[in-house]
Amino acid sequence: RVKEEGRNGYRFFTSEMQAHSARALALSNALKQAVHRGELHLVYQPQVLLRDGSVVGAEALLRWTHPQWGFVSPAEFIPLAEANGLIVPIGEWVLHTALCQLRAWLDAGLPMMTMAVNLSAVQFAQPGLPDMVGRMLAQTGVPPEGLELELTEAVAMKEPEIAAQKMQELRAQGIRLSIDDFGTGYSSLSYLKRFKINKLKIDQSFVRDISTDPDDQAIATAIVQMARSLGMSTIAEGVETAEQLAFLHARGCDEVQGYHFSRPLLPALFDSFVRDNLEQQAAKARQAHQEA
Ligand code: C2E
Ligand code: MG
Ligand code: MG
Ligand code: MG
Repeated sequence: RVKEEGRNGYRFFTSEMQAHSARALALSNALKQAVHRGELHLVYQPQVLLRDGSVVGAEALLRWTHPQWGFVSPAEFIPLAEANGLIVPIGEWVLHTALCQLRAWLDAGLPMMTMAVNLSAVQFAQPGLPDMVGRMLAQTGVPPEGLELELTEAVAMKEPEIAAQKMQELRAQGIRLSIDDFGTGYSSLSYLKRFKINKLKIDQSFVRDISTDPDDQAIATAIVQMARSLGMSTIAEGVETAEQLAFLHARGCDEVQGYHFSRPLLPALFDSFVRDNLEQQAAKARQAHQEA
């Protein structure tokens, strides 16, 4: 295995890769100024409850627009921020911004919903994390139940004892926890039970071909059933089509998130999305009333 990686690593160390490293280095440096210079912003993707079609949450997703390079994907810069430690201050900025946004929406009359915030393994490993999150909730006036932290399986499994303790501290404050990209890592199922996770996020790699691929169908179904029997809920990521939606609904998946309903949105557009959704629900209710 090691030998193979070494060989591949050697084989693929091309000029393209050197260019990539130069870019990585430049991005990594530029990231230091990104927060102060206001180059970061958040977009919010609606999370929809399948039972009634209502918007019950938002996932905050980080965006970076560099003055020269333009849009840089989080898939590219988050790993750099994790490597150089900037993910800690950036992550605090994300948490603060997302909670302020939820507070603003609630003050503007939107119904209660959860704000899901991605937490990197590096952030989770910070000793003062539960206190920091608690302070942030107090500062922004968001009830703890309004916050859901998205952890990855790697976070949970690295040092399970310490992770379990930390999750317990967060749960004790009333904060909700989910496992992101579930099924792509290697969680121990016995730990999963101990962690008191609220929700599993079915990774989009299982959702993509769910209408046709029996293996993906089996995996998604198994995740939903296991979650339910352990007292957790499920949300499917990357739902793009009505067929995927119908399958997940039939198998009892609780929530969905994906382009079928909406791309991640700027705050004002998210606000309109929720108001339109409420209007549709009300119209449906009126119609049902008339038909009855
Ligand atoms: P993730 O947390 O698993 O987020 C889901 C990703 O899928 C997002 O990509 C989202 O825009 C994308 N997506 C949503 N619906 C669909 C769909 O229907 N089809 C497809 N093909 N994609 C969909 P994004 O925004 O590029 O983020 C990529 C990853 O970067 C995230 O994956 C997360 O791991 C990380 N990330 C983003 N923001 C933050 C952050 O604030 N902190 C940390 N630590 N990581 C973040
Ligand atoms: Mg996520
Ligand atoms: Mg995910
Ligand atoms: Mg991901």
